Amino acid sequence: MTQMNEKFCQSCGMPMTEEGLYGLEANGEKSSDYCKYCYAEGKFVTENLSVHEMVAICVPHMKAQGFTEEKATEMMNNFLPTLKRWK
Ligand SMILES: [Zn+2]
Repeated sequence: MTQMNEKFCQSCGMPMTEEGLYGLEANGEKSSDYCKYCYAEGKFVTENLSVHEMVAICVPHMKAQGFTEEKATEMMNNFLPTLKRWK
C-alpha cells in the first residue's frame, strides 16, 4: 500500500497531485513547497499578496467543486494561514 503523504502548495493550498504542478526555483530545480501557479523562477508570481487576497482567489475554485461561498471562505480562512507562506 502506498503511503498517503498528501502535499499542498504552501501558498494557495492546492493539492500537489502531480510532479508537473510544482513551481521552479531560479536554478531550474523543482520547488518542494509551491505550485507553478504561485511560484516561478525562484519567486512568487504574485508578490505582496495578502492571505485575504489569496482566500478571494481560491474561493471561486472551491465553489466550482461544489462548496458554498460561505463554507469555502470559512475553510480557506482556517486553512491558508497554516501554510508556510502565510505563517
Ligand atoms: Zn499554489
